[in-house]
Amino acid sequence: MEKELQSFFGSSVFNKKVMKAMLSEEAYRGIEKTIDERKELNIEVANEVAKAMKDWAMSKGATHFTHWFQPLTGITAEKHDGFISRVSDEAIISDFSGKDLIKGEPDASSFPSGGLRSTFEARGYTAWDPTSFAFIKGKTLFIPTAFCSFTGEALDKKTPLLKSMEALNEQALRVTKLLGVKAKRITPMVGPEQEYFLIDKEVFGKRKDLMLCGRTLFGAPAPKGQQLDDHYFGIIKPRVQSFMEDLNEALWKLGVPAKTEHNEVAPAQHELAPIYESCNIATDHNQLTMEIMKTVAQNHDLVCLLNEKPFAGVNGSGKHNNWSLSTDTGINLLSPGHTPEEHLRFYLFLTAVIKAVDEYQDLIRISVATASNDNRLGANEAPPAIVSVFLGEELTSSLLAVSEEICKTDAKKKYLDLGVAAIPTFVKDSTDRNRTSPFAFTGNKFELRMLGSSNSIADSNIVLNSAVATVLKEFADELEKDSSNKSIINLVNREVAAHKRIIFNGNGYGEEWVEEAAKRGLLNLRSTPDCLPYIIEKKNVDMLTSIDVFTTAEIYSRYTIQLESYCESMLIETRTMIEMVNEDYLPAISAYGGKLAKTAIDKKQVSSSIPCDYEERTLEKLSTLLKEAKELTDKIEEAIGSTKFESIAEKAMFIKDTVIPLQEKLRSKIDACERICPESSWPYPGYGKIMFSVI
Ligand code: ADP
Ligand code: MG
Repeated sequence: MEKELQSFFGSSVFNKKVMKAMLSEEAYRGIEKTIDERKELNIEVANEVAKAMKDWAMSKGATHFTHWFQPLTGITAEKHDGFISRVSDEAIISDFSGKDLIKGEPDASSFPSGGLRSTFEARGYTAWDPTSFAFIKGKTLFIPTAFCSFTGEALDKKTPLLKSMEALNEQALRVTKLLGVKAKRITPMVGPEQEYFLIDKEVFGKRKDLMLCGRTLFGAPAPKGQQLDDHYFGIIKPRVQSFMEDLNEALWKLGVPAKTEHNEVAPAQHELAPIYESCNIATDHNQLTMEIMKTVAQNHDLVCLLNEKPFAGVNGSGKHNNWSLSTDTGINLLSPGHTPEEHLRFYLFLTAVIKAVDEYQDLIRISVATASNDNRLGANEAPPAIVSVFLGEELTSSLLAVSEEICKTDAKKKYLDLGVAAIPTFVKDSTDRNRTSPFAFTGNKFELRMLGSSNSIADSNIVLNSAVATVLKEFADELEKDSSNKSIINLVNREVAAHKRIIFNGNGYGEEWVEEAAKRGLLNLRSTPDCLPYIIEKKNVDMLTSIDVFTTAEIYSRYTIQLESYCESMLIETRTMIEMVNEDYLPAISAYGGKLAKTAIDKKQVSSSIPCDYEERTLEKLSTLLKEAKELTDKIEEAIGSTKFESIAEKAMFIKDTVIPLQEKLRSKIDACERICPESSWPYPGYGKIMFSVI
């Protein structure tokens, strides 16, 4: 089996192994240098790589190729081109040159640009990212690319991600050099744990809200939800198991190292975790994972829901972004290490991350801000909207008192405890599972738990990489003048004292934390419209532009796009609600009321002494709810129809402050009717039917 898996894993990927076998020695060396050291590729090598890529792809049945990119919609985009270049009488000539590989020119006019591109400059460029391998899906060769406007501004998530990785590499290397660490390259490593729901396709097709919005907008709680805690890590149902097997197979072929799978807390909820990889590859692979989850589900007559809150009253889905820093020599800079020197290095990098998170907490919050994730953050099932760092009590107290003695003592204590050189016991033991923290240190990595299940992980990693790079730059500037242990310790002590407010080891779900965080001056940006304006604050624009991750124009464009996307998703939900209420719920409630009325009249006709209390009281309740629901629907319709706004920020605020509260009220009226009306007269399947649809 191991052999089978070896030959199977990555079999649809044009990876180094394939390249080595198909390219001349010189060309292979060229492309390897580009992949490992980001050296520029010359056109001769590109031509040879392109030919090998085409031959390999066609030998595996591919007929088309596409530049695959990640526009600001948060999902991926592709435009397929045939390998055919000319058709003569005798034969079709296939062609694919280095130029085709390196650059594409899709029409960019229908992708969000946030004002970066005028329509007359509709052209966009895609540029090959050789660090992420090409792969075959279906009959098409997919080439991972970055996507830019005609004038060179990034229109995608990959460009700034790669830039943030470069910035981090450069600054981290300055610091490691001072510490005597041998390394030529430092890479952020990421393992994203992905949550999702699986429901039956048939029941999905009966819910307009699930089909149009990816989540239910109405629905009374089912008698059974997650009260028994019987789903988490529970036995996986055969139908789900068979889905997972196919999913793994599809992902492994594409070189995605899917590893762990289990049931999650809510009914019908599951999780998949891959083995961690370089941040860029992990991002591409997470996009692929989300896409393949959806297609494989279809093959099993299932639907995979990636929305953050498909059902009210049970847990929503998130994504945990596990993040660490690794040298090309195999050192994890967030690992405490074995010796006093390694301890000091660990404390220094730990401090850099803590300072970065404190100073750019707003950007971290923004990196996960979507309308659908707003439904989940802070609902006592996911971390709050307040960003804080969990270290565990023991590590916190060591960090608060770092000294040469502490570095030595830890090492000595460990040698005494275990008698061998191993990871110090204190870190593993004390970084336990505080599930309520948005950003937890878990032994040798940080885990950002605020991401929504449908978020692209690019956004959070751009922010983490950029913020940590910026802090490391400051550290390097200072330590390059004096890199003695004393000077490092002084720096750590000073920065920890200045940023310790961000460290919180308690219960992140508690009300007390909200008060305490406010006292500490931490931000609590509850919603997308609340947090987004922070992206254009001078401090953040200065940071992101000074390390060359974004231009000011790119930041403003992303600000606009994120707000537009918030408004559009909210308005789609609003219009769906109105349609469901007007066309389906209200007529159904009225019809059932009519039935009750008729029954009461019939009874009375038989004999006026037959009690009709049930019919009368129910009819009265339903009629009141019906009236209120209709009034609320009209109010919502009016609200979204008439108002003009000065800015997109103002519109988003209006939706949050005026439309959402009305929607919540409307939902409560309809859900109250659902509890009263019999299933047979209700137009949509209820929560119990949907969440327990997979048997
Ligand atoms: P859990 O948090 O569920 O106990 P783990 O902590 O073992 O599971 O791993 C969760 C995710 O973290 C996996 O995707 C794993 O590959 C990733 N991970 C483990 N070590 C690192 C690391 N050093 N850097 C980045 N990600 C890592
Ligand atoms: Mg984890």
